[in-house]
Amino acid sequence: MSKLFARLTGELEDICRPGFDDDFPEDVLIQMQVEKAIAAGHPLPRWGWGTPRPYNGSSGIERIMGWQKLRIAEQLRLLIPANCCSICRTSGAEHRHAECYFRPLAIKQVCRSCHFRVHRRFFDPPRWRAFVEEHSRPGDWAISLRTIELNRDEAIQIAAAPDIFASLAMR
Ligand SMILES: [Zn+2]
Repeated sequence: MSKLFARLTGELEDICRPGFDDDFPEDVLIQMQVEKAIAAGHPLPRWGWGTPRPYNGSSGIERIMGWQKLRIAEQLRLLIPANCCSICRTSGAEHRHAECYFRPLAIKQVCRSCHFRVHRRFFDPPRWRAFVEEHSRPGDWAISLRTIELNRDEAIQIAAAPDIFASLAMR
């Protein structure tokens, strides 16, 4: 395990854990299992692309680490695959969207096309809102997404909520 990874993992633990007492949200429980597996020597999946841009207050490196944890969770079959996209409900759900990389396993399963739209929404908010309005049902997580990126402090606050999407909806 690299020093950087260990340091950042420690940082994430400090950020995410104390607020929950013993009642950890499902995604945090899975994250803990993944981190235990890493500590026990589970190999880190290799990120084969360039460093991604920051997202919602998390750096590109943190996003890669989140992706690695997600991949390991998949390898360990800790996530239940969805049958269809949680936004459009018409396509498959081959992608997983993490909105806050301080909670990398609080993911939503989406199709490739919707995932692209989610990430493009900051550049064309009206288009995103029209798309969501067309496809969503009351209470859908996609409605809660902001069209202005969170800064790091906001993201850390969101990460401390039991349900990050519910927390986003209240902002
Ligand atoms: Zn979709």
